[in-house]
Amino acid sequence: MRLRTRMIIIALAAAAGALLVVLLVAGPRLRERALDNARSTLFAEARLMARLVRPSLAAGVSSDELDRLVDAAAGDVRARVTIIAPEGKVLADAELSGDALASVENHAKRPEILEAREKGMGSSLRRSTTVKRDLLYGAVTIEEDGELLGFSRVAYNLSELEEQAAQLQHAVAFALLVAFAITAVLATLLVPPGMGSMKAIMEAAHRFAAGDLAARSDVQRSDELGELAKILNATSDLLQERLNENERDQARTQAILSAMEDGVLAVDYRGIVLVANRTLVRGLDLQDPLGHHYTEVVHQREVGTVIEDVLRTGARRAIEVEFERFSQTYALTAVAFPGESGAPHGAVLTFHDVTGRRKLEQIRRDFVANASHELRTPLTSIRGFVEALEDGALEQPETGERFLRKIRTHADRMTALLSDLLDLSRLESGQTPPIWEPVHPDEAAEDVLSSFAALARSSRVELGHVDRGAPRVIADSDRMRRILEVLVDNAIKYTAARHGDGGGRVEVVTGPGVAGGARIEVVDNGPGIEAEHLPRLFERFYRVDKARSRELGGTGLGLSIARHLAEGMQASLTVTSEPGHGTRFVLDVPARPEDRPGGSTPA
Ligand code: ADP
Repeated sequence: MRLRTRMIIIALAAAAGALLVVLLVAGPRLRERALDNARSTLFAEARLMARLVRPSLAAGVSSDELDRLVDAAAGDVRARVTIIAPEGKVLADAELSGDALASVENHAKRPEILEAREKGMGSSLRRSTTVKRDLLYGAVTIEEDGELLGFSRVAYNLSELEEQAAQLQHAVAFALLVAFAITAVLATLLVPPGMGSMKAIMEAAHRFAAGDLAARSDVQRSDELGELAKILNATSDLLQERLNENERDQARTQAILSAMEDGVLAVDYRGIVLVANRTLVRGLDLQDPLGHHYTEVVHQREVGTVIEDVLRTGARRAIEVEFERFSQTYALTAVAFPGESGAPHGAVLTFHDVTGRRKLEQIRRDFVANASHELRTPLTSIRGFVEALEDGALEQPETGERFLRKIRTHADRMTALLSDLLDLSRLESGQTPPIWEPVHPDEAAEDVLSSFAALARSSRVELGHVDRGAPRVIADSDRMRRILEVLVDNAIKYTAARHGDGGGRVEVVTGPGVAGGARIEVVDNGPGIEAEHLPRLFERFYRVDKARSRELGGTGLGLSIARHLAEGMQASLTVTSEPGHGTRFVLDVPARPEDRPGGSTPA
């Protein structure tokens, strides 16, 4: 039921209740008051009649005469008047005359007469046996000088009286009804007709509560309802502003977190994941981490230990964790952060990817170990020969000379090794940028081949150049030559080792490459390389057969230098091989280098 209707109903019910009480309380009183009034009138009239008839009674007039007197007077008082002798005989009556009057029974025992005899006046309400009606009687004594002359009795028709009382009651009821009607009208008019506005306000509030933040009521009023609408709208505005702010804050935090190169993981005091940024989700391939316990998200024991530690002690922890599944190593830092609204602290972890650094460190360690090993071997040999010479080998000229040659070979090896190492370190540090110039690959190939002609001859390896019309490219000709030297040198060495008695063949093929570039191939029919070695062939100090390489004066650095050189001029160096049949190295040189930040611009 609408509020306004209810208010009106309540007002009317209150009015109706009040009216009912008035009717119930005042109704019976009205009748009593009417009777009381009637009684005193009766007595007054009875006394009047007494005074009227007293002289006649005292004079002892006949009953007939008295009756006439009474009949005449009764017309004035509009009541039934009866004059009764002291012993009860009815002497006169306003409604009876003659025989009827004479035959009226004795009235001495009528209650009003009995009472009047005793008290001087009496009244009674009863049915008259004489006239057969409900009457109200009032009787008074008629006395003269203390002597009782009779009774004067007046009677009212009770139904008339009742009618009067009823009329009075009706009047009161009518008055009350009018009052009720006025109340109804006033209630309807005065209860504010603003309930439509109330409904609008309620609807807006409902919509807002259901999540429609734009919900506002457009109630414009100057009363309390208008004020309420205004307050509610202002509250909604404020709330929306706060929510927007919150959203902005969150977006900003999210943006910062996603921009971070380190992984970030935050858990609350129970270990439930609150934040996992993009780097972490990608790096550790996390599935839907938010809201889950960290043990369901990160399956690495050390991480769990660190989190538990921080949650328990609140102290900072830092460790390095290797995630074998992803071949990643992370430097992990975990700190406590204050819990919201009195909750215990949670933990924030940052995952810094140190895989690259770790790998580099490993490579450096390996390199130092390898380089020292490579240097120690010839040094040990040299030292051995020197000791032998000291121990007397010098005295035997032939042995002494042989030993000196050996010492020279080892010294040469060390020189070669050191020079390769220097080259490598220069290349890696980027100290010598490529010098871009037009290069004809066939010319470069011819140059290199002619410088190896003597070695090929002495190694009994056939050396040839197949020119398929390589285009001119913009490249670093020195680098190109150095690469070809490494490849041709290796090819002659390893092919000769297989075909010591001739039959070995090394070919340099120059021709067009991809996208206008040039392709230079160094093909031999040497021992070939097992497939398992190919992926690591360009690593430093990687050799398929260590003893063989050393024997041939190899340092194990040639190919890694060659690849570095190639990459430095944006070329690619690859290898394919068929064990037992030969090896093919392919150098693809682009037509011209792409502009790269940090690289030198081609001439
Ligand atoms: P090295 O100084 O030992 O030759 P490189 O880096 O030049 O070192 O070569 C690495 C290894 O690759 C060599 O030890 C050798 O086992 C293999 N290799 C290189 N070129 C050839 C080739 N043409 N035929 C067969 N094996 C080769």
